Amino acid sequence: MTKCTLCGSKKNTQFDEHYINNRYFDFTICMNCSLIRCEEEFLVSQKSHINQQRCEYTVPSIEVIEATYKPMIFELIKEFDVKARGALLDFGCGNGGIAMASCSIFEKVYGLELDTSHFLRNNTNSMFNNFSPVETLEDLNTKVDVVVFWHVLEHISNFDEIVEYVKPHLSDNFSILAQIPLYREKHVFESHIHFFSKTSLKFFAKKFSAKNVRILIDHTNDFATLYFEGCRN
Ligand SMILES: [Zn+2]
Repeated sequence: MTKCTLCGSKKNTQFDEHYINNRYFDFTICMNCSLIRCEEEFLVSQKSHINQQRCEYTVPSIEVIEATYKPMIFELIKEFDVKARGALLDFGCGNGGIAMASCSIFEKVYGLELDTSHFLRNNTNSMFNNFSPVETLEDLNTKVDVVVFWHVLEHISNFDEIVEYVKPHLSDNFSILAQIPLYREKHVFESHIHFFSKTSLKFFAKKFSAKNVRILIDHTNDFATLYFEGCRN
């Protein structure tokens, strides 16, 4: 029995199975934190800590940022009463849409995306002067107050490494916003190695000594949104 990548428990059981692209995928569930894990993909993903899905990203236009991403980030800030100040880090920022939409709210915005940082650097330079695409967190020149993990946690194979990677870059009082797809047939892809429940999201938050943990379920898209505040000490 392998240890749960989220809570460390060795108690897990066969949960489900899927055939995707003619390959067999075995899913187990942790009896302690209820994290669902794709076993086969887990072994593959040990090569890198983030199981990346190679994507063809297109940098959204200013119009799309204004019409789509900005209302979304404003709604999140209002819903969770996020202290919108200082610096925001979008961890796994994809096309940079959320990060750039945050530029009018935060003094400094960083977007980390291993696949696209170079591409974002070349294509977004003149759009927002407080936006920096980064390839590593060592490139940050300030502590961050808000971290966004938008459809990222389901791709991560080693949570503790990500937490240890991010923690030194957090300000004393920070908040974290995350969204993940729920375990549904439509969300089962090769690159989705973990699925969370409310319980397992709370276990993730616990790694940051979280308080004020809130979880909202989007029943239309079958997503869960997690918000919490943390203190570095
Ligand atoms: Zn667990």
